[in-house]
Amino acid sequence: MGGGAVSVAVALRVCSVCGKMGFRRTYDLQRHMLSHTAARPFQCPHCPYRAALKYNLDAHMRLKHLAESLASLGGRGAQQEQQRDQQSCDTSDGGRNFTGVE
Ligand SMILES: [Zn+2]
Ligand SMILES: [Zn+2]
Repeated sequence: MGGGAVSVAVALRVCSVCGKMGFRRTYDLQRHMLSHTAARPFQCPHCPYRAALKYNLDAHMRLKHLAESLASLGGRGAQQEQQRDQQSCDTSDGGRNFTGVE
């Protein structure tokens, strides 16, 4: 009953790089993907991101994966800095209007 479980992503054949869709065959999509890989030889080792320039890959790694790698290290040397604005707001004193005496 109901038909087979057809993957929607495969059926649509969406390019995971640029999001282009509408490929008739899977082969067309694969050939299209080659144009991406050929133009972007620098593959990110952490995710499917590719860069045309080494500089761009370095920037991507720094932006996307540096925080993750630091977190995986256990946060050594980078303790959570509690940046709390310690504003002395005496709420218990009521909303008294402070008049600066000058
Ligand atoms: Zn594409
Ligand atoms: Zn990446």
